[in-house]
Order: sequence, then C-alpha cells, then structure tokens
Amino acid sequence: MAQVLFLGGLGRSGTTLVERLLGELPGMCALGEVVHLWQRDVRDDERCGCGDRFSACEFWKRVGKSAFDGWDNVDVDRVHRLREAVERTRHIPRLASATTASAEVREYASFYSKVYAAAAEVSGAQVVIDSSKHSALAHVLRWADDIDLRVVHVVRDARGVAYSWTKKVSRPESDGTDEMTRYSPGRSALLWNAHNAAFGLLARRGVPVRRIRYEEFLADPRAGLIRLADFAGVSLHPEDLDFLRPEHADLRPGHSAAGNPMRFTVGRLPLRHDDAWVRALPSSQRRLVGAVCGPMLRAYGYPINVASEAP
Ligand SMILES: [Zn+2]
Repeated sequence: MAQVLFLGGLGRSGTTLVERLLGELPGMCALGEVVHLWQRDVRDDERCGCGDRFSACEFWKRVGKSAFDGWDNVDVDRVHRLREAVERTRHIPRLASATTASAEVREYASFYSKVYAAAAEVSGAQVVIDSSKHSALAHVLRWADDIDLRVVHVVRDARGVAYSWTKKVSRPESDGTDEMTRYSPGRSALLWNAHNAAFGLLARRGVPVRRIRYEEFLADPRAGLIRLADFAGVSLHPEDLDFLRPEHADLRPGHSAAGNPMRFTVGRLPLRHDDAWVRALPSSQRRLVGAVCGPMLRAYGYPINVASEAP
C-alpha cells in the first residue's frame, strides 16, 4: 500500500517550498502537483523538475512503465472527463457527505493510486509526496484503494496569499511564453475561505490532516520538518537535516512533475519569510481580505489588524 503525503491548501501558500524541503528527507519522494501531470506532462511534455522533458526523464519513464505499461496507454481525455465529473470545488459537499464512492470517483482516484504505487516502487521511498493542493482532489483520494493518505494542510495569512496572487509570475517550463494565473484580492479571499474550510471538513471525515502555518514553518524549518516526518511515519537522524542552513537550504535536483517554478531550484534556496504584502498590499485591499477571511484568520491564530510599515 503506497503511503501518500498530500500537501493541500490554496495556491501561493508555500506548499512548493514545504514539498522541496520534505523531498530532501530520506524515505520521501516529492512528485510535484500530480493533478497537472496528465495534461502538462503526459500530453504537453513540459519539463520535469530535473530539467528534462517529461518524456526524456528516466524517473517518470520508469513510473509510467510500471503504472500503465507506458504513458501512451493513459487515456488523458478520460482523465479530464472524470476530473470534470468529480473533482471540482463544487463537488466537495457531495464528496464529503457520501458514504460510498461512485464508480467515477473510484476510477479517477485509481489513476493517482497507480502513479503513487509506481513512484514508491521506482524511488524506493517509503512515502511519496503529492503537492497538488486542490481540496477537491484530497476529498477524492479519501476513496482511493490501496493508499495510506495523510494530508498536510498548509495555511498562510490570507493577505500574503492575496498579494502573491496579484503578482506576475512566468512559467519557465513553457519556455517563458506563459504566465501563472492571477486573481484579484477579493476573489482570492473567497477561494482562501473555501479551500481552507474544505480541509477542515476532510479532517472531520476521519482523514489524518495536520495543519501547519507557513509563517511558523519558515521561522523554524528544522522543527517543522521533524514534526512533519513524524506525522508521515518517517524516522529521521540528526544528519538528515544537514541540508538546512540558518538562512537557506541546499537542494538536490528533484523530479517534480508540475507546479511552482521553485521546483526547478537546485542548490541554494533562501528560507526567508516574505512579508512584502505588509508594505505593498494597498490598505483598502488589506481591509477587504481581512474582513472576508476574518473568522478563519482568527481561528488559525492570525492577527486581524496588521499595521502597515509603509510611511
Ligand atoms: Zn525528472
């Protein structure tokens, strides 16, 4: 049975950084955002975290061979149709209240189970990490056969998340022609509420969910990683954390299939808390996001009134 650590949360909450650090631990293999593997990799042949095209990456070649007897045997259109039918945010109430899974949910989940099992076999890792983030996918995976699912729910201050969604970020894997999606602060605030609430709901359905605050994790990544490894059932030796330095981490190349451009970083990754939003997010937008997300910000222990440091 594949042991899967699913990293969940709204995008721009720090899941890629958490995944990169976890991926350095022995016994863990980081796969990136598997939710995008079907289109961006199997179909569009974008770049793996190792820098190779997906079709040229030895790791993913072996995973495809083991899981499906080759990626050519995956019906990507079928995966898309199933995804549309079961894995949308609007489906979460139905997924959460179900006492049995539909055939479509099981079939969709089986595509993921096969990738996880093959990746565990090829890498020899005890735990594979999927940083897909999407709460609806986590609710689908609750029904997957043959996986031991544990979820790390990464929460970041909604105002920092909102600011990040307003910034332009290009997607290097598409050779610079494409940019990552942008949202207005009002829209990202609503998404922040919905996605974070969905992970609370998943925990109430009996799935092991460990919530971490990104800001706290970055303040002491060593302690954070020890806690997450423990949650994943992986035992560590002190030297396993030698890649962590006071201000940065030393990263080896990984095979992240899709996700934030940070997946391509090799070598020095700065571990600095990015609080640019405190100065750069206009106060009207800060108030808007603070009002929309207030109850949950409070529940997660964030201060509602954050003084701007701008003159
Ligand atoms: Zn690769």
